[in-house]
Amino acid sequence: MLATAALPAQPAAPDDVLAHVPAPAYAAIVDVTVVPMDRERILEHQTVVVRDSRIVALGAARGTPVPAGAARIDGRGKFVAPALVDMHAHLSAGDESLGTAAGRQLALYLANGFATVRGLSAPTPILPAQLRLRDRVARGEVLGPTLYVAGPSLNGGSVTSPAAGVRMVDDAKRAGFDLLKTHGGLSAEAYDSVAAAAKRDGLALVGHVTPEYGLARAYAAGQQIEHLDGWIAAIVADGVAVPPGQLVLDPAVLARVDARKLDSVVRETVRRGIWNGPTLALFETLASDETPEQLAQRPGLRYLPAAEVARWAPAKAQILAAPAEGRAAFVTLRRRIVRALHDAGAKLLVGSDSPQLYMAPGDAALREIDAFVAAGLTPYAALEAATRNPAEWLGRTDAGTVAAGKRADLVLLDANPLVDTANLRKVAGLFVGGRWLDASTLAALRAGVLARVQG
Ligand SMILES: [Zn+2]
Repeated sequence: MLATAALPAQPAAPDDVLAHVPAPAYAAIVDVTVVPMDRERILEHQTVVVRDSRIVALGAARGTPVPAGAARIDGRGKFVAPALVDMHAHLSAGDESLGTAAGRQLALYLANGFATVRGLSAPTPILPAQLRLRDRVARGEVLGPTLYVAGPSLNGGSVTSPAAGVRMVDDAKRAGFDLLKTHGGLSAEAYDSVAAAAKRDGLALVGHVTPEYGLARAYAAGQQIEHLDGWIAAIVADGVAVPPGQLVLDPAVLARVDARKLDSVVRETVRRGIWNGPTLALFETLASDETPEQLAQRPGLRYLPAAEVARWAPAKAQILAAPAEGRAAFVTLRRRIVRALHDAGAKLLVGSDSPQLYMAPGDAALREIDAFVAAGLTPYAALEAATRNPAEWLGRTDAGTVAAGKRADLVLLDANPLVDTANLRKVAGLFVGGRWLDASTLAALRAGVLARVQG
């Protein structure tokens, strides 16, 4: 055995992969098919040049030379699309270390082609760390998707009075949060105060709708609605009592949907410009016939600790006790609503609610895109809800499409996602803020997470 000096340098500690941020690339993807997402089309035989976090050139491969000094990425047979966005995540505790849940979450999002994640609240004590992580990613000190962080949950417990609600909104603004999340339960009066303060402070209000204030009030406030909350109550025939809670599994109630009311709420949604993040995949997972044991076998869940997955079994088992007919009708109705919203021109957002029940970071948001297709949207429309729509909602005029001047948040794929959204799982590389992560780097991120949760 030779002296250790002859051995290759030790790789960085596996937990630290996100702390080693590559420099912004100067690179050209040569002869690639671009999926620009400005409209439903592809551009074949293109060269995309990236420098210092921006797309600096995009044009026909023949007329777009690779600049001297730029690295060459072979794009032949590959497709480049805007990197994906998950608009409903719950950022976990920790930092960039894969030894923490937060670090593993960031790694999984990158490995799955996501360059932006919106965190829709977490326990208040861990929020300051999320703001720090957001800012460190933005400064290029940590490798990760661009993060947006909602302030402390506004709910019936935390908002004890209209004045308390206003204080929470103002505190969130001062602390530097990007938006506000409501979990419902506020009195109508408190809700109105919160909504007014949010508007004054320029913070978007996102989240649940509960009967205390209802869908009409949330619409008046311009709230971005998650989970299609409040919808079933708003579209069943007059006099039908809808049970409380988000899961409405009684086939007798679901049979009483009034098509005219559905149409009217859809039109109101469009008229007011209300955005919806329906979280179809979450509720389809909850309402499906799959047993907890079957769900635990989902490939994406290998990346979460088995003990965490096991903890979800009782909740799923309890839902399975509801009649299969009601569970199926619930899924069908939710898909019908999403299809109707899309057909009418309402704006939709892909959000996974990961890491809630059986929703693995990255994987679950890809499931949400697939669920939009199952609801009747085209792959293009489903992909819009994970690219240009989130960019529009976030006010990011520099993101969401592939064009010269846009931020280099790009996913390189081995197959065309507009033919089949399953092709979004064939990630060959990712530009995140102009930093290039090739397939082996993305594989190393996955392996690092696996080593942590299985080791
Ligand atoms: Zn959530």
